[in-house]
Amino acid sequence: MKSLVIANWKMNPETLADAKKLFEATKKAVEKARGATVVVAPPTIFLHEFRAGYRGKRIVFGVQNAHFEKEGAYTGETSLTQAADAGATWAIIGHAERRAMGETSEDTRKKVAAAITLKMTPVLCVGEKARGASAEHFEYVKEQLKTGLADVPATKLGRVVIAYEPVWAIGAATAMSPHDMHEMAIFIKKTLFEIYGKPGMKAVILYGGSVDEQNAPAMLREGGVDGLLVGRASADPKRFAQLLDAVEKARA
Ligand code: PEP
Repeated sequence: MKSLVIANWKMNPETLADAKKLFEATKKAVEKARGATVVVAPPTIFLHEFRAGYRGKRIVFGVQNAHFEKEGAYTGETSLTQAADAGATWAIIGHAERRAMGETSEDTRKKVAAAITLKMTPVLCVGEKARGASAEHFEYVKEQLKTGLADVPATKLGRVVIAYEPVWAIGAATAMSPHDMHEMAIFIKKTLFEIYGKPGMKAVILYGGSVDEQNAPAMLREGGVDGLLVGRASADPKRFAQLLDAVEKARA
């Protein structure tokens, strides 16, 4: 099975001209990485132009966030419907940086449901802010999963991707260890099994948090994940090419 790599450019780069350069470099790197399915989630304002001008087949497009309502008086927002119309087929939902700006698990529930209705692939991000001596981070993640997926029936669970991103590892100096990710991947599958039965065991799980070309291979081999959600390293053309190369080698 191909590894899934989601490039979350966040609010980068500064200009359309720079975004075009980054996209050109990303296209070249993706052409070489045959073993990866790559989703590029640029700032929404660049999405339509990239999608409309892209002649390849290897990249699919996503948004980093969008509103669950189709349209309406929501100044400054873009709806999932508009994102889909602009060519996005994937939607990152509940990213820690959005939750820090006030997004609730209830919001993620509505967004996941809206994305499924639009036949997009929702990527539900979950992850605790910090870890203490006890195992309460598992309960925290369970709650985020239960609420975010509350409107997803078992028949549609295969359409959802879960991205586990511990907040303390996002934008940090180091990633989480593959061993700890493996433990969390088992917990996520166990939780989904409790809710959905067998389909829960097949959930697609990603790791995100300071992924780079150095740590990606071990995470894919030992972390119990199907892919990676990449922030900073995806907005740096050289690093992203190296990362995809490392993902390719991890499969060999
Ligand atoms: C992210 O944006 O989801 C992320 C994990 O960022 P970074 O890779 O920079 O830690």
